[in-house]
Amino acid sequence: MPRRQFLLFLAALLGPCLFLLAFGLRLLDQERQLEQKRIQEERQRQADRVGQELLTLVERIRLDLALTPDGRPHPAVVFVGKWREGRLEFPWDAPSKAQPVCDSSADSAFCGRLRQAEHAELVAREFDSAAQGYGEAIQAARQPGTETHARLRLARTLAKLDRRAQARIEYERVLRTPSAVVDEYGIPLGLYAAPPLLATERGRNEVLALIWRHLEGLDRLPAPALYMLRDLAQEAGSGEVVTRLAERIQDREQAVGLQRDFARLMPVSRTPEPMWVPFGDPPWLVSIPAAGRPAEGLVIALRATDLFSRLSPAARGVELARGNTGEPLGENFPGLLVTLPALDQTGAASRRIFLLLALVLVLGLTLFAGHLLWRDVRREARLAEMRSQFVSSVSHELKTPLATIRVFSEMMRLGDELDRDTQCQHLDTITQETARLSRLVDNVLAFARIEQGKQVYRTQSVALAGVIDAAARAIEYPARESGFQLEISADGDLPPVSGDRDALEQAVLNLLSNAMKYSGESRRIGLHLSRDESAALIRVVDHGIGIPNEEQTRIFERFYRVPSTENEHVPGTGLGLTLVDHIIKAHGGSVEVESAPGKGSTFTLRLPLGNHS
Ligand code: ADP
Repeated sequence: MPRRQFLLFLAALLGPCLFLLAFGLRLLDQERQLEQKRIQEERQRQADRVGQELLTLVERIRLDLALTPDGRPHPAVVFVGKWREGRLEFPWDAPSKAQPVCDSSADSAFCGRLRQAEHAELVAREFDSAAQGYGEAIQAARQPGTETHARLRLARTLAKLDRRAQARIEYERVLRTPSAVVDEYGIPLGLYAAPPLLATERGRNEVLALIWRHLEGLDRLPAPALYMLRDLAQEAGSGEVVTRLAERIQDREQAVGLQRDFARLMPVSRTPEPMWVPFGDPPWLVSIPAAGRPAEGLVIALRATDLFSRLSPAARGVELARGNTGEPLGENFPGLLVTLPALDQTGAASRRIFLLLALVLVLGLTLFAGHLLWRDVRREARLAEMRSQFVSSVSHELKTPLATIRVFSEMMRLGDELDRDTQCQHLDTITQETARLSRLVDNVLAFARIEQGKQVYRTQSVALAGVIDAAARAIEYPARESGFQLEISADGDLPPVSGDRDALEQAVLNLLSNAMKYSGESRRIGLHLSRDESAALIRVVDHGIGIPNEEQTRIFERFYRVPSTENEHVPGTGLGLTLVDHIIKAHGGSVEVESAPGKGSTFTLRLPLGNHS
């Protein structure tokens, strides 16, 4: 195939393929970008929804706290504090109104007795008189706080006197002191009676009951009271209470951190609306007072995980982000990032797979069509080449006999003195060459008719012995001239077949002439007529150059000639076997080849005997 045609073909096929590939890849890329954008928008929408829901929740809590400050606080509330004069104040910060036990002369009778008793107990170690002194001080006390102080000392002295039952009664009295009665550090005085009571089961239960009562109002207790309660709970063996108290203590520590950092958080708030900022770990949401009123405001700290667990089922799976990656929840929650549950992307993935498959399919189809086209084009090109070869070989084949005829006719005309034998020889040669010419013309005409679909076989009853006889006679002269020995055998009682006698003779003649052409050094040719159960067999055997296995089917193609060096100098058109095949198939038969290079070939024409058998 010419190079230019090949390049044009490549351009015609590869161009669209490359375009298709680029287009497909671009489409895939666009699809991916679109999907990313969709996911981003969807996440933003989800985050906005969650932000809105969270805002409604925290604002409701804030409103509840503002409307009913003494009501039961929401479980998510850690504390409600105040921003006042540049400082964050906690509810437990309220200074204790309690005075030291004896710091004034206002209660001089009580203080005098208490000091005497303390001297007797701690210095003189006269416990009996000390106990009596403390009892008198209790009588003289005018406030519950001072009385409880004296009673604590009395209980201690009774214990030293080993009057345990009495001591316990006094401790129990102290334990029942109202929790509002505190020392100057804000610690409820009742708590001081708890340790000695823990020794008995009854005392332990009373202490635990006291601790439970305090758990209700932990917000108002100072940190040391919390530590004391925790230690008591630990000694009393109540793990649940210890855990709750440990959590509160941790809250206090985190609150101290918030107090330190609060001023730094403040400038975040720029809008007149109060804002909620995340703080600490475990995370809190802390309300920052509105920008317009930075001097004073309510500060509420809420447990973020508690809040998130209260969101609607649509927002489930949303969590506070750890680190700096996450979706922002909008301007009401500056700095608050959340992680959203993964979006369902199966739709996008299947869309991409579909696109990819479509691309592969279209590319595959285009390449397959290109392959078929390429095969057709190559076949046509080969045929065109063969045709032009055919024209040149036909012209060559025509020229040789014509030249011989002309030479011998000239010799006859000019040679007056030629003897009779020589004249006969010349005339034989001319007849022989004419026969060869007409064989060639017959082949070409038959082929032309076949190509145009006009070939008609006239069916008659044909004796095959006659056919091979006629063919042998037609080839006899040139065979003899070239030194060939023709071995002929025929099965005598073969019934006639129905067919076109001339066509069958032409087929046998073509095989015989091939046997002569491709015999190489060998000079033996066999022509045998026989039969098997259902068919007559005409066999042409030579011992010539043979045909390679892979060429044995191709030799029946039109114009095809085996491309070997031995064949190069043998004249031929590549039509002989095409015609043989066509004729025999038209008679319902088949052509078989047995051949091996260098060993010779046997062509068998198998013709059905039909109802003549
Ligand atoms: P051609 O005019 O070339 O002989 P054919 O159609 O008769 O055309 O044969 C096709 C090809 O088959 C030949 O060119 C030759 O290569 C091969 N061929 C045919 N008959 C024989 C044979 N008896 N021995 C070897 N090769 C043969």
